[in-house]
Amino acid sequence: MSRQRFDAMTESRKRERVGVEEKGRRSELFGNNVFNKERMLQYLTKDALESVQGAIFSGSKIDRKIADQVAEAMKTWAIEMGATHYTHWFQPLTGATAEKHDAFFDLMSDGRALEKFGGGQLVQQEPDASSFPSGGIRNTFEARGYTAWDPTSPAFVYDTTLCIPTIFVSYTGEALDNKAPLLRALNAIDEAATAVAKYFDKTVVKVNATLGWEQEYFLVDKALAHSRSDISLTGRTLVGHSAAKGQQLDDHYFGVIPLRAINFMKELELECMRLGIPVKTRHNEVAPNQFELAPVFEEANLAVDHNLLLMDVMDRIADRHNLKVLFHEKPFAGINGSGKHNNWSLATDTGVNLLSPGSTPMKNLQFLTFFINTIKAVDTYEELLRSSIASASNDHRLGANEAPPAILSIFVGKQLGNVLDELEGVSKGKLSPEEKTELKLNVVGKIPEILLDNTDRNRTSPFAFTGNKFEMRGVGSKTNCAKPMTILNTIVAKQLREFKKEVDALVDKKSLKKDEAVFNVLREYIKTSKRIRFDGDGYSEDWQKEAERRKLSNNKTTPAALQVLTSKQSLELFASMGVMSEKEVTARQEVELEAYILHIQIEGRVLNELVYSHIIPSVIEYQNILIKNVLGLKEIYGAAHRKLTDGQSGIIEQIAEHITELKKQVDAMTDARRKANKLTDTQKKAFAYSDDVKPYFEKIRMHCDKLEMLVDNRYWPLVKYRELLSIK
Ligand code: ADP
Ligand code: MG
Repeated sequence: MSRQRFDAMTESRKRERVGVEEKGRRSELFGNNVFNKERMLQYLTKDALESVQGAIFSGSKIDRKIADQVAEAMKTWAIEMGATHYTHWFQPLTGATAEKHDAFFDLMSDGRALEKFGGGQLVQQEPDASSFPSGGIRNTFEARGYTAWDPTSPAFVYDTTLCIPTIFVSYTGEALDNKAPLLRALNAIDEAATAVAKYFDKTVVKVNATLGWEQEYFLVDKALAHSRSDISLTGRTLVGHSAAKGQQLDDHYFGVIPLRAINFMKELELECMRLGIPVKTRHNEVAPNQFELAPVFEEANLAVDHNLLLMDVMDRIADRHNLKVLFHEKPFAGINGSGKHNNWSLATDTGVNLLSPGSTPMKNLQFLTFFINTIKAVDTYEELLRSSIASASNDHRLGANEAPPAILSIFVGKQLGNVLDELEGVSKGKLSPEEKTELKLNVVGKIPEILLDNTDRNRTSPFAFTGNKFEMRGVGSKTNCAKPMTILNTIVAKQLREFKKEVDALVDKKSLKKDEAVFNVLREYIKTSKRIRFDGDGYSEDWQKEAERRKLSNNKTTPAALQVLTSKQSLELFASMGVMSEKEVTARQEVELEAYILHIQIEGRVLNELVYSHIIPSVIEYQNILIKNVLGLKEIYGAAHRKLTDGQSGIIEQIAEHITELKKQVDAMTDARRKANKLTDTQKKAFAYSDDVKPYFEKIRMHCDKLEMLVDNRYWPLVKYRELLSIK
């Protein structure tokens, strides 16, 4: 009998809670470990401070002498904070973050030790990066890639290391990470949105994209998680019968947070405060053991970094509390999965949220401009936006009838829908004074009131307008937000650029007034982007059909979703917005497909091992006991035993049938895997994994889960759902 499950359960039951002490005010802790403006004021000369601020605001270059000064100041501060090492912190295409620590310590030629960290080390490093995926951009034998300082995201001390956020690029300038394209996209949206915002307010100099993510996650006891190879190797349970009580009663959602979880959250939040991650909200989610954490929104690049850092901090702190965080989008079958809603908006340097209606008709026209352009952008590039959230693990959510569908659509609500309908009726060309007044008073002028009592919300919509921001709901809980944020900002930037061209043309050539031109262009956008608007039930069958009629894409698997990346339209978009070259896009697609293949491959292997080395031996052990029992009864009662052994024999047979089926299916899966592995074309191989290998998973699981219900609890080798999902 396998002891692993029971040892793990004993260990988990013996846990003492790890208490957390809150000392002082959290607001006083905020940013203590960050080399932020406050620290800069303290440690930098005026010149250096201005140079860094300039780089943050307008992307200006920081010269080498200043970089030396900044490095010196950072080093002094970091060592005072207890740091011994520094690292360039970057986001390779694996999806996680990477770091290579170097000590500040150095030796002089005379053997004396000193602490060294200069501008050179701050600005650029060359990690031995040959093992990071590059999609063929960088030949591994060359292994040439370097990390370069991103001054727009402040350095921070984490544990005893000074972490410097950086981009990761090849020596020929191609992005090898997720941050470099994001920064380019943010630059593009800044330029395009600023130009349009100037129609309404000439003093606007800069527009930042803002992002407020909501991180969902599961917590399970560490010993229980480690006892199952599927959880520790794939982040999810590949088998496991649903617990008798799952989330049917909805008694977990917003309920009292279990003590072990709250202690974990407290410590996590304190650490986040120090690291400058402005966490604000915590609550239970729908499924048992599922929770959510959300911060105050920030500039998008910073928010992305903070989310990545958060996931890392969560791992470490959970460990101290003998817990494991599951970031996987679908760790348990039969109960809700986890996502990471990306709330997105645009903010001017003058402090205006461009997706927030204002108090005057002019402000509202500005709102409508950005609102409608976003709708138009998503309509044009819906498939591309969908591709940005594709991954092996998120495939379990998208289109799986519980989370947003794989079809992108936008929910604007009934009232705003009515406003758009009215605007659609605006006259072509010049507007009469009456029409202008009518628009001002009754259409555009009414927007703030509409939004105030706009209570209709649609939880099934993948892209919803929620009063003063759009909420992108399909993002996976594991996903690096840089990916959807790069695409979203690029497509909206492109759209705003087109819009400006069209408005300017109407003003120049047709001598329309600016607001008339804006109305005219918006009217056309409303007309041509109607198919993307959908207020109904996104989970319904009807919508699938309706979406097909509307010619919206419905890519249910990652290999299918990723194809659009290299379409002519996408390549043209990325190139024209300066976000990615064809080489970079192709490489990224290759890396994502490769990652998909590897994920499914690993899951297949683990499933194979679970079935052959754990489940089949355990159920045979139990089956043998039944056989012994039947034989014993036969020995005692002779021919009369049949009446007494009917039940046992039935179970013996059922077990045998499941074993036979399991063997058949697992072997067929292995065959399919072998066949897939022979394919050299990555695209074809990914499709082989999704279409030929993955379908076996569910079939295999079905037999395992039936067996779980058939055999003596003491013989079942894997920690069960009810045991995993019971944090107190
Ligand atoms: P929920 O979606 O759970 O109902 P809210 O509507 O309050 O919650 O939104 C939560 C998230 O929206 C938070 O992470 C918050 O930071 C973010 N958010 C609010 N305003 C903006 C904005 N202007 N830009 C980006 N994110 C925002
Ligand atoms: Mg939300």
